[in-house]
Amino acid sequence: MSPIYKSGAFAQQCFASHRQTLAFKRLGLPSTVILDCTTCDMEHRLTVLRFTSPTSEATEQSGEHLARCVETHRAALRVSAMDIARDYVGLRCDDCHRSFDLDVATFETSRE
Ligand SMILES: [Zn+2]
Ligand SMILES: [Zn+2]
Repeated sequence: MSPIYKSGAFAQQCFASHRQTLAFKRLGLPSTVILDCTTCDMEHRLTVLRFTSPTSEATEQSGEHLARCVETHRAALRVSAMDIARDYVGLRCDDCHRSFDLDVATFETSRE
């Protein structure tokens, strides 16, 4: 079994160096978002405390909306922001032109 690194440093590194290959992979509601990176073959698992959207919807609705994006046009989702010092990850859907703010509790990284 490959080791799991409990650190956001790897995800931050991917975002800083090659964000074009850092992609949304899977959503496990209510609280898991999985990103993967084809450059370094790493999988980043985020445990999310809260999904919010700048369009002031309730938290649950933002999560549900994100789930709908995943179902209907997953390829349009991308990572738009990452700041591990603030436990923050931003996702953006190019299809709905909507962004999602993720309040992250833990970052875990493993090799795929
Ligand atoms: Zn990477
Ligand atoms: Zn969408």
